[in-house]
Amino acid sequence: MMNTTTPSGSDTELDQIERLDAEPVNAAWKRKPLYEARKKIFPKRAEGGYRRFKWLVMLVTLGIYYITPWIRWDRGPYAPDQAVLLDIANRRFYLFFIEIWPQEFFFVAGLLVMAGFGLFLITSAVGRAWCGYTCPQTVWVDLFLVVERAIEGDRAQRMKLQDAPWTASKIFKRVSKHAIWIMIGVATGGAWIFYFADAPTLLVDFVTGHAAAVAYITVGILTATTYIFGGLMREQVCIYMCPWPRIQAAMLDENSLVVTYNDWRGEPRGRHAKKAAAQGLVQGDCVDCNACVAVCPMGIDIRDGQQLECITCALCIDACDNIMDKLDRPRGLISYAPGAHGRWRLRRCGQAFQLAHHLPPALAALHGCLVGGRSWPGLCAVVARPA
Ligand code: SF4
Ligand code: SF4
Repeated sequence: MMNTTTPSGSDTELDQIERLDAEPVNAAWKRKPLYEARKKIFPKRAEGGYRRFKWLVMLVTLGIYYITPWIRWDRGPYAPDQAVLLDIANRRFYLFFIEIWPQEFFFVAGLLVMAGFGLFLITSAVGRAWCGYTCPQTVWVDLFLVVERAIEGDRAQRMKLQDAPWTASKIFKRVSKHAIWIMIGVATGGAWIFYFADAPTLLVDFVTGHAAAVAYITVGILTATTYIFGGLMREQVCIYMCPWPRIQAAMLDENSLVVTYNDWRGEPRGRHAKKAAAQGLVQGDCVDCNACVAVCPMGIDIRDGQQLECITCALCIDACDNIMDKLDRPRGLISYAPGAHGRWRLRRCGQAFQLAHHLPPALAALHGCLVGGRSWPGLCAVVARPA
């Protein structure tokens, strides 16, 4: 029911009520929409030691994924000769010389727990090495970028093409790129199903239309997810979909190595060192060239400090080292370094302290070996158990 009574209190009384200077932090006029439109990133190709290491990791991981189902392993006349086979129909897992039956599945659980601990250990010692080098999302995005660069060129050409009108050349480039991406997706999904049946037989069945419906559905789903995640969404998957960046913050401490802009050396940044020196101003080593931003696959600026988006791929280290080489300044303006407190200690104590400083990660590695050592009996039990 509507309130029809007259509000009590005279104007004088109301004037005595002080209006406090307070404002809600989420006032309606301050609120921004939760949705933010994506700003397309055009990572420039990086050159350097970390990039070469990433190429190597990409080749090894993709090689393992695509080739493993085709490796043969002689187990005698009545067993499959595929080295790695997850034979769900007959409830057997074959991993080279290891054969796992359903009642032994706890061994697999144990191996997965060991792998989980290993991942935690690596993160606490060297940060998000998994994200930067071996995560399938990183590896496949790298592969998709190789295709994109081969067809559309490096950053500047791709940006130009993006803004260019739709000519026959642009349509041809775009169609070629997406066609190859989809083929990579099909190959990815295709390789996956070969882990679950005899690969040569399944390949023939698949191309002749005699494979089970689940095989076609699986390849379809994996083709779509590979194409969408690796080709279209890219960094969006890491930033918005993956829980790992949120979890691993809890595994880092000030001794964990993370990709770091050494601001104590780079600031104040500027492009005119001689002019600054003439004016008696001190200038840091950062020449504000943005090379580190241009190569970043996440489109961020590491000079702003640690960010959830940073996958520690170290490509900004390569880019900055190349700039420092050109300027004849020491490398390492961006480097793998411990967190803020650790950096403070490094700066105070100089290079000689570095060895002692890395003692905690070394102890973590030792702990890892011990965990691994404790796991050996379990592994031996799997291998040496009676058939
Ligand atoms: S690449 Fe190095 S010098 Fe250039 S902006 Fe980045 S940190 Fe500064
Ligand atoms: S800031 Fe550097 S390490 Fe982090 S994602 Fe970008 S390029 Fe990789």
